[in-house]
Amino acid sequence: TVGTAAPQEERLVVVVRVRPSFEASERCIEVISGGSLLFDDGGKSRTRKYSYDHVFKENDTQEQVYKTTTAPLVRDVLNGYNAAVFAYGATGSGKTHTMLGPVPRKRGTASTPAPSNAPSTAAGYEADVNSQEIGLMVRAIEDIFLHIESASPDSACKVSISYLEIYNELIRDLLNPGGPLELREDNRGQRITVAGLSEITTSSRKEVVSLLVKGNKARTMEPTAANQTSSRSHALLSITVQTRTPLGTKQGRLFLTDLAGSERAKKTKNRGKRLQEGAHINRSLLALGNCINALSGGARYVNYRDSKLTRLLKEALSGKCKTVMIAHVAPESKHRDETKNTLVYADRANSI
Ligand code: ADP
Ligand code: MG
Repeated sequence: TVGTAAPQEERLVVVVRVRPSFEASERCIEVISGGSLLFDDGGKSRTRKYSYDHVFKENDTQEQVYKTTTAPLVRDVLNGYNAAVFAYGATGSGKTHTMLGPVPRKRGTASTPAPSNAPSTAAGYEADVNSQEIGLMVRAIEDIFLHIESASPDSACKVSISYLEIYNELIRDLLNPGGPLELREDNRGQRITVAGLSEITTSSRKEVVSLLVKGNKARTMEPTAANQTSSRSHALLSITVQTRTPLGTKQGRLFLTDLAGSERAKKTKNRGKRLQEGAHINRSLLALGNCINALSGGARYVNYRDSKLTRLLKEALSGKCKTVMIAHVAPESKHRDETKNTLVYADRANSI
C-alpha cells in the first residue's frame, strides 16, 4: 500500500438537515444560522439553541449537502483512506431522500400528500428525477468517476460497489437478495468481510442508479403505527476504489449508510416482532453513537463488537478515517419528541 499525506481536517463532522414541511402546521424548529437552530420543546424551558458543524435549511439543495458533507471524503478515498457518512433520524425525516433521492410518499393522509416528483421504478427514476434531486450515493460515485477520468493515465482505477441491509442483526445482499450472509473476520480481527456479498465493478452512472433503486426496493419494509412504510433496516452502500500506481496499489473505501428509523419502541406501540426489531435498532444505533463518541474523544479502546453495524464499519470508524453524521429532522411540532431525540443524539456526537 502506498502512503499518502494524512487528511488534515476534523475526523468527525456532525450536521443537521431539516426537511421541508408538507403541510401548514405548527413548527418547532427554526434555523438561525449555518450552524445553529432553535428548538421549541413545548415544555417549561421552551426554546433551546443547538449548534453543529452545519445546519441545512429546508430549501438547501442536494448539491449543497453533497459538497459540504461528502465531497471532502471522496478526495480522501481516492487517496486510499476509508470514510463513512451516516443518515440518522426518525422514519419520514428525509434520510433516504438525502442518500438516494425523492421517495414516493404514501397517499391518503394530510401529512403525506401524493408526491409529484417521485418515480416508482428504476427506469422511471432515471427519466423522471430532476438530476438536481439525485442523492449522495449517486453523486459520490459520479464524482469518483470524474476524478478518475481526469487522473494521470499511468494509474489504473477500479471502482466496485456492494449494497447490503442489516435487519434484525441479519445481513442481506441488496444487489442479489437471498438468505442471510455471515460476517467473517480474519484471525487478528482486523479485516471484516461479508461472505458471499456481491461486489459489482461498474463505470456507468445509469447502471449505478438502477442498481441502487432496485436494491432499495429489496429492503425489508415493515409497517408500524408511526408510518406505513417504516424502514426498520440499515442500508449500507460501500464504494471501493482501487488505484494501481507505478509505486503499488492503494485502496480506499467509502461507506454510505441509510440508518434504520431511530424512533423509539414506545412511540410506535410495538409488540412482539416489532418490539424485537426496535430493540435491535436501538442497540445498533446506540453502539454506533458510542463508537463515534469514543473516537471523537480520542478513546484508546473502542468497542465495535456490540452490533453488526459497528463491526462492519470498523475499518471506516478507526484510524485516520473521517466520519460524517447527517441527522435528519422534520420541522412540524407533532414530531417534536423524535426531533428532540435526534438533536440530542447528534449533539452528543458533536460535543466531545
Ligand atoms: P426516511 O428515509 O427518513 O424515512 P424519506 O427520505 O422517505 O424519509 O422522506 C420522507 C418524504 O419526505 C419522502 O417523500 C421524501 O421524498 C420527502 N423529503 C424528505 N426530505 C426532503 C427534502 N429535503 N426535499 C424534498 N422532499 C423531501
Ligand atoms: Mg427511508
